[in-house]
Amino acid sequence: MRHFPIFRDLRGRRVVVSGATETAVAKLRLILKTEATVTVYGKDPHPQIARWSSEGKLHLIDRPIDRGDAICAALVYGANEDAAEDARAAQIGRDAGALVNIVDNLGDSDFITPAIVDRDPVTVAIGTEGAAPVLARRIKAENEERLSPDLGVLARIGQSFRGEAESLPHGRPRRRFWARFYDEIGPRALTEGGEDAVRAALATLLAEMLNEQTEAGRVALIGAGPGDPELLTLKARRLLHEADVVIYDRLVSPEILELARREAIVIEVGKIPNGPSWKQADINALMVEHAATGAHVARLKSGDPAVFGRLDEEMDALDGAGIAFEIIPGITAAAAAAASIKVSWTRRGRNKSFRLMTGHDVDGFAEHDWRGLAQPGAAAAIYMGVRAARFVQGRLMIHGADPDTPVTAIENASRGDQKIVATTLAGLPDALASAGITGPAILFLGLAPREALDAADSIDTTHIPTAEAL
Ligand code: SAH
Repeated sequence: MRHFPIFRDLRGRRVVVSGATETAVAKLRLILKTEATVTVYGKDPHPQIARWSSEGKLHLIDRPIDRGDAICAALVYGANEDAAEDARAAQIGRDAGALVNIVDNLGDSDFITPAIVDRDPVTVAIGTEGAAPVLARRIKAENEERLSPDLGVLARIGQSFRGEAESLPHGRPRRRFWARFYDEIGPRALTEGGEDAVRAALATLLAEMLNEQTEAGRVALIGAGPGDPELLTLKARRLLHEADVVIYDRLVSPEILELARREAIVIEVGKIPNGPSWKQADINALMVEHAATGAHVARLKSGDPAVFGRLDEEMDALDGAGIAFEIIPGITAAAAAAASIKVSWTRRGRNKSFRLMTGHDVDGFAEHDWRGLAQPGAAAAIYMGVRAARFVQGRLMIHGADPDTPVTAIENASRGDQKIVATTLAGLPDALASAGITGPAILFLGLAPREALDAADSIDTTHIPTAEAL
């Protein structure tokens, strides 16, 4: 983002326009909406500018801008339809410490004027940094249609009621008050009885909500998926957007956190392998503490919360504190990783079962049914397996696994920096090291990427058993 959008206070400030041209008219239509004092310099003024001047809306000075004319100006516009004259005006503006805009010349301007949807005091400003004016116009048209013309009136009345509304507790109750006002009660009152009815409706709504019992807090244990925000469920997305407090694991991607409301309290409770970590007990306490104040807590866990996510400990803590919770399943890393290499977890004629394993448990490298896993056709996803790769390889070989068994590592599945390493059991640790795989990664035992399969031994359909044979 090269241009940072801000709203500049122009009350009582000077805005100077150099050039009384048709180009200036277009900008002046916007500038005259503000409370600035506007001065236009230029000979042969456009009739509209002359009209505004005679109506007292701006000062028109019938000569080119000159040194000293921009003193104390907040903004200076160059709208001369003449590059040399605009450059001269820009210099005069900058010498006076003003921000300068040369119309239709992004490169030489300090700021750009966005397309505006005006529901004063609500203003939508749309900018594309000059990249796509057509798109800006379309977005403006869509917003003009979507935002009721009454919005400004409601917002102004709402603004005058903010002090009274502070008698509601901060956070969710106050937000619900305003949501109900803008979504239903305000628009209805305005249509039925005008502005006075809106004021009365606000007072009634406030009294009603002050009498309500405080709402109980709750926790949603949400699967945030493997990283790509498009792989979130709609429910996860909605609950995240509604949450007052978001507590998230290190592997939850920044793009997903963007979906939380700006006012939400957002807390990372990362557990870095072999690094500084939040203790599970502290995470549990944090959830309980926030939910106990009535907050809606979104506890975001990467992938699916029920896969190597210490979900049970969190559920036990919530039950223990009497806090209601629900679980929103997510796409587990192994599902995303399988999609990335275009293989299925199970396939007729190849494997009838598929295991989800961890490379690590509380005691270090995790032990498993190595004999079963060493059998031809066995297939598994190993989570947290990168550092355990040599251990896994050793155990499987001892139990007679074929050294040529395919193993595929998928690091950062579904993310922009995803990496795929296709190797064999014999080559596993070296392949991971030379590809620089440090995780988070899934190791697929017994599964090769579809392309590798096509190249090596394309699927022989005669060996796939029919439904009856199974
Ligand atoms: N609940 C999570 C797993 C948490 S354990 C899930 O269902 O996916 C953390 C491990 O998940 C990591 O060590 C890694 O093995 C795996 N993982 C998480 N995100 C991943 C991703 N985007 N790509 C590959 N592996 C990932």
